[in-house]
Amino acid sequence: MKCFDCAWAEEIVDAVGVCHHCGVGVCMRHCHVALEPGHHLAGVGQSTLSRPARELTCLTCHFAMTPAYSAEAKGSAR
Ligand SMILES: [Zn+2]
Ligand SMILES: [Zn+2]
Repeated sequence: MKCFDCAWAEEIVDAVGVCHHCGVGVCMRHCHVALEPGHHLAGVGQSTLSRPARELTCLTCHFAMTPAYSAEAKGSAR
């Protein structure tokens, strides 16, 4: 599989993974590895019960979800 975003820019780059949300192939430059949101709320030293899961997304999906995530994080931080 080739990276979708690279193909969009008329480049041919092998994909290293698949977006968890939309299913396109992504290369290292065009992917974002996120940990599950619950990790931010839990204590750093007590993560034995809820280990963060890896979630690979393309940048399009990452930015599409970022506003909701950042707003949530700011709300909980205050
Ligand atoms: Zn790419
Ligand atoms: Zn995606």
